[in-house]
Amino acid sequence: MSSIRVRIAPSPTGPLHVGTARTALFNYLFAKHFGGTFVLRIEDTDLERSDKKYEKDIFDGLKWLGIEADESPERGGSHGPYRQSERIKTYKKHIQTLLTEGKAFYCFHSENELAEEKEKLLAAKRPPIHICEYRSLDPEEARILTETKSDFIIRFKTPSGRKIEFQDLIREKVSFDSELLGDFSIAKRANVPLYNFAVVVDDEEMDISHVIRGEDHISNTPKQLLLIEALGFRTPQYAHIPMILGTDRSKLSKRHNATSVNEYREMGYLPETLFNFLALLGWNSGTDKELFTKEELIKEFSLEKVQKSGAIFDIQKLDWMNGEYIRKKSLPELVELSKPFLNGNQETKFPKGNLVSNDYIKKIIALEQPRLKKLSEIGERTEYFFRAPQYEKDLLRWKNMSDEEITASLDKSINILSNLESHNVHLNARTRVKMNISKETLEETFLKEIGEGDKGRILWPLRAALTGQKASPGPFEIMEILGIKKAMKRIKTAKDKIK
Ligand code: GLU
Repeated sequence: MSSIRVRIAPSPTGPLHVGTARTALFNYLFAKHFGGTFVLRIEDTDLERSDKKYEKDIFDGLKWLGIEADESPERGGSHGPYRQSERIKTYKKHIQTLLTEGKAFYCFHSENELAEEKEKLLAAKRPPIHICEYRSLDPEEARILTETKSDFIIRFKTPSGRKIEFQDLIREKVSFDSELLGDFSIAKRANVPLYNFAVVVDDEEMDISHVIRGEDHISNTPKQLLLIEALGFRTPQYAHIPMILGTDRSKLSKRHNATSVNEYREMGYLPETLFNFLALLGWNSGTDKELFTKEELIKEFSLEKVQKSGAIFDIQKLDWMNGEYIRKKSLPELVELSKPFLNGNQETKFPKGNLVSNDYIKKIIALEQPRLKKLSEIGERTEYFFRAPQYEKDLLRWKNMSDEEITASLDKSINILSNLESHNVHLNARTRVKMNISKETLEETFLKEIGEGDKGRILWPLRAALTGQKASPGPFEIMEILGIKKAMKRIKTAKDKIK
């Protein structure tokens, strides 16, 4: 196994976000490309905001996407435990080292005092940096104070006048001035570490070689580098990946699209679609190719091809891609995937006692497969196969046909169908198999009967009567599945509407 070890470190304070999933995916692809290890670590030291239900949502979402961690709280591994809340002893040890060596100190400022200071600095148009007076308090005096005061935090004694530089794998050299960092906090108390500190300890102890994370963390990196230096740790390589933006180029939020992976799952996007789509949010292969299998992505992924500028989340592209993946499914697979969406939709719940055969469902799904974009659409789109459609009579009108013309048109369809039906009854009696009339036969007969002229005058009212929808597959395909009897019943209902 290669020495490449990367990680995703989500906080379980909300459902799995598409941005986190994208970061996880880039880490995963990078690790798999080099035969390395992908670690999932849970940053749950913020006990108030962390919730087990979100942790589960993160685990489930990543698994559903096919981004399997090699080491995680669930799978375990050689570098555990993988939840920060289970690593408190380790943090305490390193905090103690920093305190003992005079690289960190106790700060006794109240939140009010800090807020006031910040306000003053901002009013004076100065950066809100806290250079703490307690940094020079005698350590023994400070220790005694901690015994009487309960409200204190631990800060890092940021060295002044230092230039902190690192070579980002995506953005080249990044440099920061230590003056702008202030004495940043590293722990609320000895047993409540804060992000910048805990992440550094975890990355060291878990032998993380590359930190691949969102660009929003770039300003944390100099703090982490100072801590790494102070603790004598190894420095990982950094790659800050671009933010995901909405089509208006502002940071992706609920205002644009759904943001949690589970919402996409519920909308009927396939995991392979999302996997492929997320991979292209900030990365491209250097060609026009957009559809990639997981194996292809693992083979082709490289940090060099990750872009610096923001990645636009284009829902139309996602829809297109999902349609492509739906069409790649075998029919039995698609039937299974669609069933929850058929059953889950109140409108299409099969009437009790009315057994809808698997074969019937299969035919319906086959009809929709070429045009479906999301599995969730299937409920509404196929509703008319399960219950008589509801619609306004005007839907039956083709161009400016009069009511009498519509009635005549529907009569003609009934005529054609009843002729076909009596022929079919004879045929079925002879062969002793009950077969629906095929769409080919239906089409041939109708076209012959209609002859020259505007086909819409017959086919539109017919199709509208069958489906009650503005758009649907053609009437012949529908009648083949529905059967002539039901079709005729619906046309008669349509005629009643006109009366
Ligand atoms: N908990 C942080 C986040 O989810 C981790 C950041 C990091 O990777 O260092 O954004």
